[in-house]
Amino acid sequence: MSLHRETRTVHLPVTEPTGSRPLGVPIYQQHLFSFGTADDLAAAFDGPDRGFFYSRHGNPTVRALEDAVADLEGGAGGLAFASGMGGISAVLRGLLSSGDHVIAQRCLYGSTYATLTDLAERWGVEVTFVSGNDPAEVREALRPATRLLYLETIANPTTQVVDLPTLIAEVPSGEVISVVDNTFATPLLCRPLEHGADIVVHSATKFLGGHGDILGGVAVFGTDEIRRRVWDQAIELGACADPFAAWLTLRGMQTLALRMERQCSNALFLAERLAAHPATSRVYYPGLPSHPGHAIAQRLLAGGGGGVLSFDAAGGREAGRIFTEAVRLAVHTVSLGNVQTLVLHPASTSHRQLDATALAAADIGEGTVRVSVGVEHPEDLWADIDQALTKAS
Ligand code: PLP
Repeated sequence: MSLHRETRTVHLPVTEPTGSRPLGVPIYQQHLFSFGTADDLAAAFDGPDRGFFYSRHGNPTVRALEDAVADLEGGAGGLAFASGMGGISAVLRGLLSSGDHVIAQRCLYGSTYATLTDLAERWGVEVTFVSGNDPAEVREALRPATRLLYLETIANPTTQVVDLPTLIAEVPSGEVISVVDNTFATPLLCRPLEHGADIVVHSATKFLGGHGDILGGVAVFGTDEIRRRVWDQAIELGACADPFAAWLTLRGMQTLALRMERQCSNALFLAERLAAHPATSRVYYPGLPSHPGHAIAQRLLAGGGGGVLSFDAAGGREAGRIFTEAVRLAVHTVSLGNVQTLVLHPASTSHRQLDATALAAADIGEGTVRVSVGVEHPEDLWADIDQALTKAS
Protein backbone atom coordinates (compact mmCIF):
# COMPACT_ATOMS: atom_id res chain seq x y z
CA MET A 1 0.00 0.00 0.00
CA SER A 2 1.39 3.39 -0.94
CA LEU A 3 0.95 5.78 2.03
CA HIS A 4 1.29 9.52 2.43
CA ARG A 5 4.18 10.88 4.54
CA GLU A 6 1.73 12.04 7.25
CA THR A 7 0.50 8.47 7.66
CA ARG A 8 4.04 7.07 7.58
CA THR A 9 5.05 9.34 10.51
CA VAL A 10 2.26 7.75 12.53
CA HIS A 11 2.72 4.09 11.59
CA LEU A 12 6.46 3.82 12.24
CA PRO A 13 8.46 0.82 11.07
CA VAL A 14 9.42 -1.57 13.89
CA THR A 15 12.73 -3.33 13.30
CA GLU A 16 13.33 -6.37 15.49
CA PRO A 17 17.01 -7.42 15.69
CA THR A 18 17.81 -10.59 13.76
CA GLY A 19 20.87 -12.80 14.26
CA SER A 20 21.70 -11.26 17.66
CA ARG A 21 19.85 -10.44 20.84
CA PRO A 22 20.16 -7.78 23.54
CA LEU A 23 21.72 -8.86 26.86
CA GLY A 24 18.90 -7.33 28.83
CA VAL A 25 15.17 -7.06 28.30
CA PRO A 26 14.22 -4.09 26.10
CA ILE A 27 12.09 -1.31 27.57
CA TYR A 28 8.69 -1.89 25.97
CA GLN A 29 7.52 1.65 26.68
CA GLN A 30 4.23 0.81 25.00
CA HIS A 31 0.83 0.34 26.44
CA LEU A 32 -0.64 -1.13 23.24
CA PHE A 33 0.18 -4.41 21.47
CA SER A 34 -1.55 -5.53 18.29
CA PHE A 35 -2.90 -8.97 17.43
CA GLY A 36 -3.25 -10.76 14.11
CA THR A 37 -6.61 -12.33 14.88
CA ALA A 38 -9.69 -11.19 16.73
CA ASP A 39 -9.75 -14.48 18.67
CA ASP A 40 -6.22 -13.96 19.97
CA LEU A 41 -7.03 -10.45 21.22
CA ALA A 42 -10.24 -11.71 22.83
CA ALA A 43 -8.30 -14.50 24.58
CA ALA A 44 -5.76 -12.01 25.95
CA PHE A 45 -8.49 -10.59 28.22
CA ASP A 46 -8.77 -13.98 29.92
CA GLY A 47 -5.76 -13.76 32.23
CA PRO A 48 -2.28 -12.44 32.91
CA ASP A 49 -0.55 -14.94 30.64
CA ARG A 50 -2.72 -14.91 27.51
CA GLY A 51 -0.75 -12.27 25.58
CA PHE A 52 0.11 -8.62 26.06
CA PHE A 53 -2.45 -6.18 24.73
CA TYR A 54 -2.65 -3.28 27.22
CA SER A 55 0.06 -2.57 29.78
CA ARG A 56 -2.27 -2.24 32.77
CA HIS A 57 -2.96 -5.95 32.20
CA GLY A 58 0.64 -6.90 31.44
CA ASN A 59 3.79 -5.72 29.68
CA PRO A 60 6.86 -7.68 28.53
CA THR A 61 9.40 -5.54 30.44
CA VAL A 62 7.25 -5.66 33.56
CA ARG A 63 6.80 -9.42 33.07
CA ALA A 64 10.60 -9.85 33.01
CA LEU A 65 10.74 -8.22 36.46
CA GLU A 66 7.84 -10.36 37.73
CA ASP A 67 9.59 -13.50 36.47
CA ALA A 68 12.96 -12.50 37.93
CA VAL A 69 11.61 -11.86 41.44
CA ALA A 70 9.36 -14.95 41.29
CA ASP A 71 12.42 -17.00 40.35
CA LEU A 72 14.46 -15.64 43.27
CA GLU A 73 11.59 -16.21 45.71
CA GLY A 74 10.82 -19.67 44.32
CA GLY A 75 7.22 -18.81 43.40
CA ALA A 76 4.84 -19.83 40.62
CA GLY A 77 4.71 -16.27 39.28
CA GLY A 78 4.70 -12.62 40.19
CA LEU A 79 2.93 -9.33 39.60
CA ALA A 80 4.68 -5.97 39.60
CA PHE A 81 3.18 -2.70 40.81
CA ALA A 82 3.76 1.05 40.79
CA SER A 83 4.86 0.91 44.45
CA GLY A 84 5.12 -1.50 47.33
CA MET A 85 1.82 -0.18 48.63
CA GLY A 86 0.23 -0.76 45.22
CA GLY A 87 1.13 -4.44 45.57
CA ILE A 88 0.10 -4.72 49.21
CA SER A 89 -3.26 -3.02 48.48
CA ALA A 90 -3.93 -5.30 45.49
CA VAL A 91 -3.16 -8.38 47.60
CA LEU A 92 -5.31 -7.32 50.57
CA ARG A 93 -8.23 -5.94 48.57
CA GLY A 94 -8.05 -8.80 46.07
CA LEU A 95 -8.24 -11.53 48.68
CA LEU A 96 -10.44 -10.05 51.41
CA SER A 97 -14.18 -9.44 51.54
CA SER A 98 -16.41 -7.86 54.12
CA GLY A 99 -16.82 -10.20 57.11
CA ASP A 100 -13.37 -11.77 56.70
CA HIS A 101 -10.92 -11.78 59.58
CA VAL A 102 -7.18 -11.02 59.37
CA ILE A 103 -4.41 -11.76 61.86
CA ALA A 104 -1.55 -9.29 61.45
CA GLN A 105 1.68 -8.45 63.18
CA ARG A 106 1.35 -5.22 65.20
CA CYS A 107 4.70 -3.71 64.25
CA LEU A 108 4.06 -3.27 60.51
CA TYR A 109 5.16 -0.71 57.95
CA GLY A 110 2.98 2.35 58.72
CA SER A 111 0.96 2.45 55.48
CA THR A 112 0.30 -1.30 55.66
CA TYR A 113 -1.00 -0.84 59.21
CA ALA A 114 -3.12 2.10 57.99
CA THR A 115 -4.51 0.01 55.10
CA LEU A 116 -5.52 -2.79 57.47
CA THR A 117 -7.10 -0.28 59.85
CA ASP A 118 -8.98 1.29 56.92
CA LEU A 119 -10.19 -2.14 55.79
CA ALA A 120 -11.41 -2.71 59.33
CA GLU A 121 -13.11 0.65 59.75
CA ARG A 122 -14.69 1.12 56.31
CA TRP A 123 -14.79 -2.29 54.61
CA GLY A 124 -16.06 -4.59 57.34
CA VAL A 125 -12.89 -6.66 57.60
CA GLU A 126 -11.91 -7.57 61.16
CA VAL A 127 -8.27 -7.42 62.16
CA THR A 128 -6.54 -8.89 65.22
CA PHE A 129 -3.03 -7.61 65.81
CA VAL A 130 -0.46 -9.91 67.45
CA SER A 131 3.10 -9.31 68.60
CA GLY A 132 4.62 -11.70 66.08
CA ASN A 133 6.77 -13.22 68.83
CA ASP A 134 4.38 -15.86 70.10
CA PRO A 135 2.66 -18.62 68.08
CA ALA A 136 0.08 -19.02 70.87
CA GLU A 137 -1.25 -15.51 70.09
CA VAL A 138 -1.91 -16.57 66.49
CA ARG A 139 -3.58 -19.79 67.66
CA GLU A 140 -5.85 -17.83 70.02
CA ALA A 141 -6.69 -15.20 67.38
CA LEU A 142 -7.74 -17.81 64.79
CA ARG A 143 -11.49 -17.91 63.96
CA PRO A 144 -13.63 -19.64 61.33
CA ALA A 145 -13.69 -16.33 59.40
CA THR A 146 -9.90 -15.93 59.39
CA ARG A 147 -8.73 -15.66 55.79
CA LEU A 148 -5.31 -14.03 55.97
CA LEU A 149 -2.19 -13.90 58.14
CA TYR A 150 0.07 -10.89 57.48
CA LEU A 151 3.71 -10.76 58.68
CA GLU A 152 7.00 -8.99 57.91
CA THR A 153 10.25 -10.96 57.90
CA ILE A 154 12.17 -8.11 59.56
CA ALA A 155 10.13 -5.27 61.03
CA ASN A 156 10.89 -1.59 61.17
CA PRO A 157 12.58 0.09 63.06
CA THR A 158 13.25 -2.45 65.82
CA THR A 159 14.52 -5.10 63.37
CA GLN A 160 12.20 -7.65 65.00
CA VAL A 161 12.73 -10.98 63.23
CA VAL A 162 9.57 -13.01 62.90
CA ASP A 163 9.71 -16.78 63.21
CA LEU A 164 7.82 -17.31 59.95
CA PRO A 165 7.54 -21.12 59.86
CA THR A 166 6.36 -21.33 63.47
CA LEU A 167 3.68 -18.64 63.10
CA ILE A 168 2.52 -19.79 59.66
CA ALA A 169 2.18 -23.36 60.95
CA GLU A 170 -0.52 -22.11 63.33
CA VAL A 171 -3.00 -21.31 60.53
CA PRO A 172 -4.68 -23.96 58.35
CA SER A 173 -3.00 -23.87 54.96
CA GLY A 174 -5.46 -23.61 52.07
CA GLU A 175 -8.02 -21.82 54.27
CA VAL A 176 -5.84 -18.97 55.54
CA ILE A 177 -3.51 -17.23 53.09
CA SER A 178 -0.18 -16.27 54.65
CA VAL A 179 1.35 -13.06 53.28
CA VAL A 180 4.89 -11.99 54.16
CA ASP A 181 6.47 -8.60 53.43
CA ASN A 182 10.07 -9.58 52.65
CA THR A 183 11.31 -6.08 51.76
CA PHE A 184 13.97 -5.90 54.48
CA ALA A 185 15.34 -9.42 53.99
CA THR A 186 15.18 -9.73 50.18
CA PRO A 187 15.06 -13.25 48.67
CA LEU A 188 18.81 -13.48 49.18
CA LEU A 189 18.44 -13.67 52.96
CA CYS A 190 15.04 -15.35 53.25
CA ARG A 191 12.47 -17.00 50.98
CA PRO A 192 9.18 -17.00 52.91
CA LEU A 193 7.45 -19.38 50.45
CA GLU A 194 9.89 -22.08 51.62
CA HIS A 195 8.60 -21.45 55.15
CA GLY A 196 4.95 -21.97 54.27
CA ALA A 197 3.91 -18.49 53.06
CA ASP A 198 1.50 -18.24 50.11
CA ILE A 199 2.44 -14.72 48.98
CA VAL A 200 5.57 -12.61 49.34
CA VAL A 201 5.38 -8.84 48.85
CA HIS A 202 8.21 -6.39 48.30
CA SER A 203 8.65 -2.68 48.15
CA ALA A 204 11.05 -2.86 45.17
CA THR A 205 11.70 0.82 45.94
CA LYS A 206 14.12 -0.44 48.59
CA PHE A 207 16.79 -3.15 48.21
CA LEU A 208 15.61 -4.63 44.89
CA GLY A 209 15.94 -1.29 43.08
CA GLY A 210 18.68 -0.14 45.43
CA HIS A 211 19.53 3.22 43.88
CA GLY A 212 16.79 5.58 44.99
CA ASP A 213 15.54 6.14 41.44
CA ILE A 214 12.33 4.10 41.29
CA LEU A 215 9.15 3.42 43.19
CA GLY A 216 7.96 -0.14 42.69
CA GLY A 217 6.41 -3.21 44.21
CA VAL A 218 6.39 -6.92 43.40
CA ALA A 219 4.19 -9.70 44.77
CA VAL A 220 5.17 -13.35 44.29
CA PHE A 221 2.62 -16.14 44.56
CA GLY A 222 2.92 -19.76 45.55
CA THR A 223 0.20 -20.75 43.07
CA ASP A 224 -1.19 -19.45 39.78
CA GLU A 225 -4.65 -19.54 41.30
CA ILE A 226 -3.87 -16.92 43.97
CA ARG A 227 -1.89 -14.86 41.44
CA ARG A 228 -4.93 -14.82 39.17
CA ARG A 229 -7.20 -13.59 42.00
CA VAL A 230 -4.83 -10.73 42.78
CA TRP A 231 -4.38 -9.89 39.07
CA ASP A 232 -8.15 -9.42 38.75
CA GLN A 233 -7.93 -6.81 41.52
CA ALA A 234 -4.67 -5.31 40.22
CA ILE A 235 -6.15 -4.37 36.86
CA GLU A 236 -9.03 -2.65 38.65
CA LEU A 237 -6.76 -0.79 41.09
CA GLY A 238 -4.49 0.24 38.24
CA ALA A 239 -1.31 0.55 40.31
CA CYS A 240 0.60 -1.18 37.52
CA ALA A 241 4.37 -0.93 37.15
CA ASP A 242 5.74 1.40 34.49
CA PRO A 243 8.05 -0.41 32.03
CA PHE A 244 10.92 2.02 32.61
CA ALA A 245 10.69 1.62 36.40
CA ALA A 246 10.57 -2.17 35.91
CA TRP A 247 13.65 -1.97 33.70
CA LEU A 248 15.55 0.14 36.27
CA THR A 249 14.59 -2.36 38.98
CA LEU A 250 15.92 -5.22 36.86
CA ARG A 251 19.15 -3.31 36.30
CA GLY A 252 19.44 -2.67 40.04
CA MET A 253 18.79 -6.34 40.81
CA GLN A 254 21.85 -7.40 38.85
CA THR A 255 23.96 -6.11 41.76
CA LEU A 256 21.55 -7.13 44.54
CA ALA A 257 23.76 -9.96 45.81
CA LEU A 258 26.86 -7.75 45.92
CA ARG A 259 25.00 -4.91 47.58
CA MET A 260 23.36 -7.15 50.18
CA GLU A 261 26.67 -8.78 51.04
CA ARG A 262 28.27 -5.37 51.60
CA GLN A 263 25.28 -3.84 53.35
CA CYS A 264 25.03 -6.79 55.76
CA SER A 265 28.75 -6.75 56.55
CA ASN A 266 28.76 -2.95 56.96
CA ALA A 267 25.69 -3.16 59.21
CA LEU A 268 27.30 -5.79 61.46
CA PHE A 269 30.52 -3.75 61.64
CA LEU A 270 28.60 -0.59 62.64
CA ALA A 271 26.31 -2.47 65.05
CA GLU A 272 29.30 -3.88 66.93
CA ARG A 273 30.96 -0.46 67.18
CA LEU A 274 27.73 1.24 68.18
CA ALA A 275 27.13 -1.36 70.91
CA ALA A 276 30.51 -0.50 72.43
CA HIS A 277 30.00 3.29 72.21
CA PRO A 278 29.17 5.20 75.42
CA ALA A 279 26.69 7.49 73.60
CA THR A 280 24.34 4.58 72.79
CA SER A 281 22.21 2.66 75.27
CA ARG A 282 20.89 -0.10 73.01
CA VAL A 283 21.54 -1.46 69.51
CA TYR A 284 18.93 -3.36 67.52
CA TYR A 285 20.52 -5.59 64.88
CA PRO A 286 19.61 -9.26 64.29
CA GLY A 287 23.25 -10.10 63.59
CA LEU A 288 24.23 -9.24 67.19
CA PRO A 289 23.98 -12.06 69.77
CA SER A 290 22.29 -9.55 72.13
CA HIS A 291 19.31 -9.14 69.74
CA PRO A 292 16.19 -11.01 71.00
CA GLY A 293 15.68 -12.49 67.52
CA HIS A 294 19.30 -13.50 66.97
CA ALA A 295 18.65 -17.25 67.11
CA ILE A 296 15.69 -16.94 64.72
CA ALA A 297 17.79 -14.75 62.41
CA GLN A 298 20.52 -17.37 62.35
CA ARG A 299 17.95 -19.97 61.32
CA LEU A 300 15.95 -17.84 58.84
CA LEU A 301 18.31 -15.25 57.39
CA ALA A 302 21.01 -16.89 55.33
CA GLY A 303 24.32 -15.19 55.79
CA GLY A 304 23.41 -11.92 57.43
CA GLY A 305 21.30 -9.78 59.67
CA GLY A 306 20.15 -7.44 56.91
CA GLY A 307 21.15 -3.94 55.91
CA VAL A 308 19.16 -2.01 58.54
CA LEU A 309 20.01 -1.41 62.20
CA SER A 310 18.72 0.92 64.88
CA PHE A 311 20.21 2.26 68.09
CA ASP A 312 19.05 4.30 71.05
CA ALA A 313 20.99 7.49 71.62
CA ALA A 314 21.84 7.53 75.34
CA GLY A 315 20.75 11.17 75.55
CA GLY A 316 17.17 10.30 74.56
CA ARG A 317 14.85 12.10 72.12
CA GLU A 318 16.90 15.27 71.66
CA ALA A 319 20.13 13.32 71.19
CA GLY A 320 18.51 11.15 68.51
CA ARG A 321 17.27 14.21 66.68
CA ILE A 322 20.63 16.01 66.92
CA PHE A 323 22.42 12.90 65.61
CA THR A 324 20.38 12.89 62.40
CA GLU A 325 21.26 16.54 61.79
CA ALA A 326 24.93 16.03 62.62
CA VAL A 327 25.78 13.31 60.10
CA ARG A 328 27.82 14.55 57.16
CA LEU A 329 28.21 11.48 54.92
CA ALA A 330 25.06 9.54 55.80
CA VAL A 331 21.89 11.14 54.45
CA HIS A 332 19.11 12.30 56.76
CA THR A 333 15.94 11.01 55.11
CA VAL A 334 13.26 8.33 55.01
CA SER A 335 13.36 5.02 53.12
CA LEU A 336 15.96 2.29 53.14
CA GLY A 337 17.89 -0.16 50.99
CA ASN A 338 19.77 2.52 49.07
CA VAL A 339 23.44 2.34 48.12
CA GLN A 340 23.90 5.44 50.30
CA THR A 341 23.56 5.19 54.09
CA LEU A 342 20.34 6.83 55.32
CA VAL A 343 19.45 7.86 58.88
CA LEU A 344 16.09 8.64 60.45
CA HIS A 345 14.77 9.52 63.92
CA PRO A 346 11.44 7.60 63.97
CA ALA A 347 10.01 9.28 67.12
CA SER A 348 9.97 12.71 65.43
CA THR A 349 9.25 11.55 61.87
CA SER A 350 7.80 8.20 60.72
CA HIS A 351 6.35 7.35 64.17
CA ARG A 352 5.57 10.88 65.40
CA GLN A 353 1.87 9.99 65.82
CA LEU A 354 2.88 7.68 68.71
CA ASP A 355 3.15 9.22 72.19
CA ALA A 356 5.71 8.01 74.73
CA THR A 357 3.45 5.16 75.94
CA ALA A 358 2.68 3.97 72.41
CA LEU A 359 6.36 4.17 71.46
CA ALA A 360 7.23 2.05 74.49
CA ALA A 361 4.51 -0.47 73.58
CA ALA A 362 6.04 -0.74 70.10
CA ASP A 363 9.47 -1.14 71.73
CA ILE A 364 10.74 2.02 70.02
CA GLY A 365 12.84 4.38 72.12
CA GLU A 366 12.39 8.16 72.10
CA GLY A 367 16.04 8.39 71.07
CA THR A 368 15.99 5.52 68.56
CA VAL A 369 17.78 6.22 65.29
CA ARG A 370 17.31 3.94 62.29
CA VAL A 371 20.26 3.45 59.99
CA SER A 372 19.80 1.94 56.53
CA VAL A 373 23.38 0.98 55.87
CA GLY A 374 24.78 1.58 52.39
CA VAL A 375 27.74 0.21 50.48
CA GLU A 376 30.29 2.89 51.44
CA HIS A 377 33.62 1.97 53.07
CA PRO A 378 32.75 0.96 56.66
CA GLU A 379 35.50 3.11 58.24
CA ASP A 380 34.17 6.24 56.49
CA LEU A 381 30.73 5.44 57.83
CA TRP A 382 32.02 4.88 61.32
CA ALA A 383 34.01 8.15 61.29
CA ASP A 384 30.80 9.99 60.34
CA ILE A 385 28.65 8.20 62.94
CA ASP A 386 31.27 8.68 65.64
CA GLN A 387 31.50 12.45 65.09
CA ALA A 388 27.69 12.74 65.00
CA LEU A 389 27.41 10.76 68.26
CA THR A 390 29.92 13.11 69.89
CA LYS A 391 27.77 16.08 68.90
CA ALA A 392 24.65 14.31 70.16
CA SER A 393 26.08 13.41 73.59
N1 PLP B 1 6.83 -2.50 53.06
C1 PLP B 1 7.87 -2.04 53.78
C2 PLP B 1 8.52 -2.96 54.76
C3 PLP B 1 8.33 -0.73 53.62
O1 PLP B 1 9.36 -0.30 54.37
C4 PLP B 1 7.67 0.11 52.69
C5 PLP B 1 8.11 1.51 52.49
O2 PLP B 1 8.92 2.03 53.24
C6 PLP B 1 6.59 -0.40 51.97
C7 PLP B 1 6.20 -1.70 52.17
C8 PLP B 1 5.85 0.45 50.98
O3 PLP B 1 6.60 0.58 49.82
P1 PLP B 1 6.43 1.78 48.78
O4 PLP B 1 6.93 3.03 49.46
O5 PLP B 1 7.27 1.34 47.62
O6 PLP B 1 4.99 1.88 48.45
